Amino acid sequence: MAIGPTCCSVSDCNRAAGYRFGTSARCRRHALTYRPVVRRAIVVALFVGTILCIINQADVLLSGHLTAFVVAKIGLTYLVPFSVSTYSALAANRVQANEPQSM
Ligand SMILES: [Zn+2]
Repeated sequence: MAIGPTCCSVSDCNRAAGYRFGTSARCRRHALTYRPVVRRAIVVALFVGTILCIINQADVLLSGHLTAFVVAKIGLTYLVPFSVSTYSALAANRVQANEPQSM
């Protein structure tokens, strides 16, 4: 249950803010497109994705047997750290509901 009257601080958005980045309150849609979150996720994806590609696909790339399937796997290799970084940023900046924590 959503508690609290805080609205998203993006103009023309009336959704409830579920995330707070400093003084900026954001709804889920605008938290996902918040520039610092996206920028960090891209940096993490490029760094971690490249390492994972080298670990997992170096033999295929060096042998020159690049197929559409391998290209799709490389894309997913970059998508995973991007998603984890974005999820972590949103989870760390989620506004806590006014209810007791359960264990
Ligand atoms: Zn919004």
